[in-house]
This record gives sequence, structure tokens and C-alpha cells, in this order.
Amino acid sequence: MVERIAFQLNGTDGAARTGVISTPRGEIRTPAFMPVGTAATVKAMMPESVRETGADILLGNTYHLMLRPTAERIAALGGLHRFMNWDRPILTDSGGFQVMSLSGLRKMSEKGVTFKSHIDGSRHELTPERSMEIQRLLGSDIVMCFDECPALPADRDRIAESMRMSMRWAQRSRDAFGDRPGHALFGIQQGGLERDLREESASALCDIGFDGYAVGGLAVGEGQAAMFDCLDYAPGQLPEDKPRYLMGVGKPDDIVGAVKRGIDMMDCVLPSRSGRTGQVFTRHGVVNIKNARHQDDPRPLDENCRCPACRNYSRAYLHHVFRAQEMISGMLLTWHNLTYFQDIMQGMRDAIAGGTFAAWEADFHAGRADGDIERL
Ligand SMILES: [Zn+2]
Repeated sequence: MVERIAFQLNGTDGAARTGVISTPRGEIRTPAFMPVGTAATVKAMMPESVRETGADILLGNTYHLMLRPTAERIAALGGLHRFMNWDRPILTDSGGFQVMSLSGLRKMSEKGVTFKSHIDGSRHELTPERSMEIQRLLGSDIVMCFDECPALPADRDRIAESMRMSMRWAQRSRDAFGDRPGHALFGIQQGGLERDLREESASALCDIGFDGYAVGGLAVGEGQAAMFDCLDYAPGQLPEDKPRYLMGVGKPDDIVGAVKRGIDMMDCVLPSRSGRTGQVFTRHGVVNIKNARHQDDPRPLDENCRCPACRNYSRAYLHHVFRAQEMISGMLLTWHNLTYFQDIMQGMRDAIAGGTFAAWEADFHAGRADGDIERL
């Protein structure tokens, strides 16, 4: 068993990379997709089912857990792994991004941010030090620095000012985190879509020194083309021998494009959230199960998918339970979506290791261009 978190790069194909992050709680195969377990659960899924889809690691949300049930309560009950019955690695975000996107009245200063809970209006404070404390109480394996992420578009001065404050917060996060063998702290690069600001941010983070590096501040409204333009250079500004994590991404084609550009880890609520709204991701593109064309269709969603929704149920059934608002609908569609996302990751890992990423990618896009099969 490893005592420290370490990253081993096993192969590259162009800018795409495959490797393994070793942790005391198990290995994380990269490129890795992390399902989001916002409130100590991946909604509609049992933890053992999440594991069956192929997930090596989950993401937990500091903002949600600090408000309810509170980090102190989770710590008293043995930590987040035991609390939610997931004994493999967990990455927690810092809470910063969700304070900005979810909480009501908030006030930012050099010290940190004070805000009102979206649940009951109670007042809370998050600082780099408090974020490190909460993530330690949760028992997170991979801890994220506390940072500020401005929504795009924003003007260059605002992005620069925000990035420089995030770099001061990164140093405070590093100091507060201390030395915790078996746990990792990741820095977060900011700088919007400005290449020189991204470089300045990467350089500041490298001076501090982290176990991994995230590309932050993307997927916040800039669009895929702008995001890919930034990813053409941003991962290359970060150390080659450490994992690179793109936060909050994304749709299947975003994920493939990010891995192609050198990203090792990603997370997104999309597969689970879409599962609950009837949106299904398949090799042939997006299927809306609520569409009436499925009501007499005996075929599975995807005849080649290994998930229980595809192996055991027809489109007609999945359509019916969605329309009837039965709970099994969200369960089956989430299971399928998470399986599909993990199968994309496995496909990319194999292709990068075999030096066939370009062919794999062409296949991936060709399947989606086919569209869902209308005819019987
Ligand atoms: Zn399936």
C-alpha cells in the first residue's frame, strides 16, 4: 500500500496522456472521469453501482457538506468515506466556486468570503484556512485550493486581479494544509482566456509546489471553441509529472477534446443530472427518452452497452417509467450515463496506451454523427 499520493505517466499519444494516480485508498486510472457526489451521494445511485460503472474516484462538494450535515458532524461519524460508504478516493472542491454560483448575499475580501446559506439563510465564512479545515474534517484524499473563479466574459483587469488574489490564497491554502502523508493538495490555475495570465498563474503555483494542478476558470460560459483554444496551451504550462485536472467538464465531446489536449482528470454533474431529466448519452449521440417515438420501441437504448438499463430494459419501458415519474427512471438512466462516460474514459486510456488515439477519436465522432437510430 502506498503511503503518499503519486502519479505515474504510462503513455502519451500526441498531447494525450494515460497513467495512474496511486493513493492509500486505491488507484485512479487516468484519464479519469469523477462522478459528482454533491451531498454525500451520487444521486439515484448506490456506491457499489457507481464503482461498477468503472469510477475510481468521486467528487464531493465542500459548500454543500459544510452547510448540511456539516463537516464537523461527518468527522465525528468517521469521515466522508465511511459516512457515504465509499472506501475509494474522494476529491473535494474548495467550496469557492459554489459559494459564487449558489449562495445568496456574499461579500468578498482579501481574507475570504462571507455568505448566506441557500438552505436557511444562515451566515457562513469561507477562507483558504477554513476550506482546508473542512476538507480535512471530511477526510478528502485530494484537496483543492480555495480560489475565486470569475464568470466569463470578464474584462482583463478583473481577471488579472482575481487570479493574483487566488495565487495568494493558494499560498495560504498550502500553508494551512501542511504535510499530510496520503493526502494531496492541488493548486488551481486561473487567468481566464488570457495566455500570459495563465502563464503567470502556472508559474506562481509551481513556485509554491502542489501534488497536482487544475485548470480552473473554464466551462463558465466561454463556449467549447474558446475552451479548446485555452486548452491548446494551458495544460502545457503546468508540470508534466503531475496530474492535470479540468474542473467541471463536461459533455462527452468536451471530455474527449480535453484529454486530447493533455488533461488527466475531469468531473461533471451532467451524466447524473441528465439521467434524472430523461437525457441519455450514447455512442449515437443524445437520446431524449421522453420523446413519444420510444413508446413502442422494444430495443435497448444502446445494444452494445453493458449497463443494466440497456441489458434488461426496452426503450418503451424506460420511456414509460420516465413519463410515470417512477424513481427507477432516474436510477436506470443515471446508471447508463455514468457507464457510458466511464466507457469513453476506458476507450481513451486504451487508445492512448496503444498509440491509436486519433483513430479512436475519429470513431467517436463518426458514431455521434450517425445520430440515434430512428428505424426498427
Ligand atoms: Zn446502457
